[in-house]
Amino acid sequence: MKEFTIGRLITFARFMKLTFWGAARQVTGSMYMLETQKGYRVLIDCGLDYEQQRNLHDNPSRHFPFSPASISILILTHAHIDHSGNIPNLVSQGFRGHIFCTPATADIVKHLLLDSANIQAGDARKVKNRYKKGRKDPEAIPLFTQKDVMKSMEQIITLDFHKPFRLNDALQFTFYEAGHLLGAASVVVEFTENGHTQSIGFTGDLGRNNSKLVKNPEQMPELNYLITESTYGGRTHKVQHDAESELLYHIKETCVKINGKLVIPAFSVGRTQAIIYTLNRLDKQGLLPRIKVFVDSPLALRTTPYYEQYQHQLNEEARTFYSRQGDLFDFENLTFVQTPADEKDLFYCHEPYVIISAAGMVEGGRIQEHVKNHVQNPFSTILIAGYCAEGTLGARLLSGQKNIKIKGKELRVYSQITATDVFSSHADQEQLIQNTLSYNSSKLKQVFLTHGDEQSMTTFKTLLSQKHLDKTTIPNKGEEFML
Ligand SMILES: [Zn+2]
Repeated sequence: MKEFTIGRLITFARFMKLTFWGAARQVTGSMYMLETQKGYRVLIDCGLDYEQQRNLHDNPSRHFPFSPASISILILTHAHIDHSGNIPNLVSQGFRGHIFCTPATADIVKHLLLDSANIQAGDARKVKNRYKKGRKDPEAIPLFTQKDVMKSMEQIITLDFHKPFRLNDALQFTFYEAGHLLGAASVVVEFTENGHTQSIGFTGDLGRNNSKLVKNPEQMPELNYLITESTYGGRTHKVQHDAESELLYHIKETCVKINGKLVIPAFSVGRTQAIIYTLNRLDKQGLLPRIKVFVDSPLALRTTPYYEQYQHQLNEEARTFYSRQGDLFDFENLTFVQTPADEKDLFYCHEPYVIISAAGMVEGGRIQEHVKNHVQNPFSTILIAGYCAEGTLGARLLSGQKNIKIKGKELRVYSQITATDVFSSHADQEQLIQNTLSYNSSKLKQVFLTHGDEQSMTTFKTLLSQKHLDKTTIPNKGEEFML
């Protein structure tokens, strides 16, 4: 968009356009655009869309609804793929601006994106082999390659929490702690013209209070507009115990009482570290039974050291533990599966053990092998430790399906299937409402709900309205608002 030139008054007319390009009436694919009248375009997040992908032949994230070259800058809230996973594609299609994120996000996102590029290359090879030569299939072309990831990394500028960054004479933004993942931020964009400032706050993914390792989410300053996630807008976490008691209970029930194996599917970054840290705390208190604990996740292995590198950003409990013990994750019976010898140890281990592996929703990754090996064993327990989107294998197991298919094999489910919310890294309904209402001052003009399924959003909106907050909108994909 060009600057208006027909009159000084019109040039000074002030507006900012907000467009919801992703995570609109669904959870994944976060991508919002702020655009000034002068055509300065700020993209907030650029994530992969998993939900639409299930319904379409080609990947819906492949084509952007705008020219990537027209984006001035990108602000990345955190490293998770549903927020960052389309960045290399944006760069390969012409985006040349800076990518702003916190230092921890910059370190972690590199590994997540390289891993994503690897998975895509593998999937594309499989599709190519399936079809005869010459047939063109969109699925056989990865969205991006490792080279695109490394190119994207060159565009990153890191910025610490609470340090305002001035983009031009009208715009600045600041990161606040989102308490969701190491380095995760909420972001406030301030737009000033004629001495009048509008504040637009994006929660990013909002953590829950009293998480393991990361701090509680932080309140942003007073806002004119709030864009809030609503993953758990529809329900409150069922948490009866603290994380230590919860894990100890499952270990005793499965590994001690019946000599079985406890299989925990967990996201490689965030969830896996929270679980290992909890086990370490139990071990240091002398409460952990003497059983082996395996972590089979190359991505977890690569990203775990960042928790100690950035330990100053962790919560007080974790910092105190680190200063007393000198480590967060190291205990005697823990093995990160790295070498063929470790794999052999795990494969031939006939004693009770705990295995933590990715992916959290059991949709891919090494966990599939472990679930395949244990799902038919009545002495094993599969403990789902995170959110499982509809249609994923994790969700199917939780729904009580008795027959499942893994890696082309039909299997009957005989193991125990159970779940825990204690490691959830998202604020639940109660906390989301509390957080949203905390911005309900005379300054607040509108609240937009994103990053949730339609039912969660509708419930959330109804509850907000019962609490006398009526200025809530559930935007559609592509919908624009003048702020
Ligand atoms: Zn996230």
